[in-house]
Amino acid sequence: MPQPIRDPASARNVDQAELAKFQALASRWWDPGSEFRPLHEINPLRLGWIDGLAKLADKRVLDVGCGGGILAESMAQRGARVTGIDLGEKALEVAKLHGLESGVQVAYERVAVEELAAREPAAYDVVTCMEMLEHVPDPSSVVGACAALVRPGGWVFFSTISRNPKAFLFAIVGAEYLLNLLPRGTHAFEKFIRPSELLSFSRRHGLEPAGMTGMTYNPITRAYRLVPGDVSVNYMLALRRPL
Ligand code: SAH
Repeated sequence: MPQPIRDPASARNVDQAELAKFQALASRWWDPGSEFRPLHEINPLRLGWIDGLAKLADKRVLDVGCGGGILAESMAQRGARVTGIDLGEKALEVAKLHGLESGVQVAYERVAVEELAAREPAAYDVVTCMEMLEHVPDPSSVVGACAALVRPGGWVFFSTISRNPKAFLFAIVGAEYLLNLLPRGTHAFEKFIRPSELLSFSRRHGLEPAGMTGMTYNPITRAYRLVPGDVSVNYMLALRRPL
C-alpha cells in the first residue's frame, strides 16, 4: 500500500496557531502598506548588516522561516544562491509567484528546518532565521538545526525580540496597541527570547558569537535604526560555526 504523504507542517516543532496567523495574512506579504510593513522597512538594515559580515555574493544561503521571501529575494539580488524554507503553504505560494514577477531566483521548499538539517548537513555558507524563533515551541531546536545546516566557517544570523518590561511596552503595547504597526496578538510576551538565552542555545549547539546589534524604531520619525548598544527590544545576533 502506498504510504500517505506526510504533511511537513505536522513536524514536531511547530505551533499550528502561529502558522495560521501568518497563513491568514499571506496574500499581503508584498504589500508594503500591509501588516508586513515593518519587515519591508527593516529589510535594507538587516540585509546590509548580514551582507557586511558574511559577504553574500556567490554564497549558498538558507533562509529559515522565509515567509513571502522579503529577505530571501533581497539576498539573491546581492548575488547569493538562496533557498527559502517555511511551513506556511500560502506564504511559499506567494513567494514563488513574486519570484516569477520579479525575476529574482530563489528556491523555495516547504520543509521543517530539523528535517532539512538531517538531509543536508553542513550544506550552506550562510543560514538566516529572522523574526521566527519567537513563534516556535522549541527555539533551541531551530538553533540546533541551523547550526547543523551551516558549514564549518560559515555564518548563522538570528533576529528576535528580547523579554523584559521595556520589550513588553515597545513590542506589544506600542507596536500592536498604540501604533498599530502589527496586528494585535502577533507576539506573545512569554515567547520572547533574551540575548543571553539565544547565546546560550547557540553555544550549546557549537556556534560562536560574532556580532550583535539592536534595531530600534522611532515613532516620531517612523524610522528604524541599527543601534549596536541597545539590544533591549528587537535585536540580531551573528554567529559562526568554528572551522
Ligand atoms: N523571516 C521572514 C518572515 C518572518 S514572519 C522575515 O523576517 O521577513 C515568521 C515566519 O515564520 C512566517 O512565515 C511563518 O510561517 C514562519 N513560521 C512560524 N513557525 C514556523 C515553523 N515552526 N517552521 C517554519 N516556519 C515557521
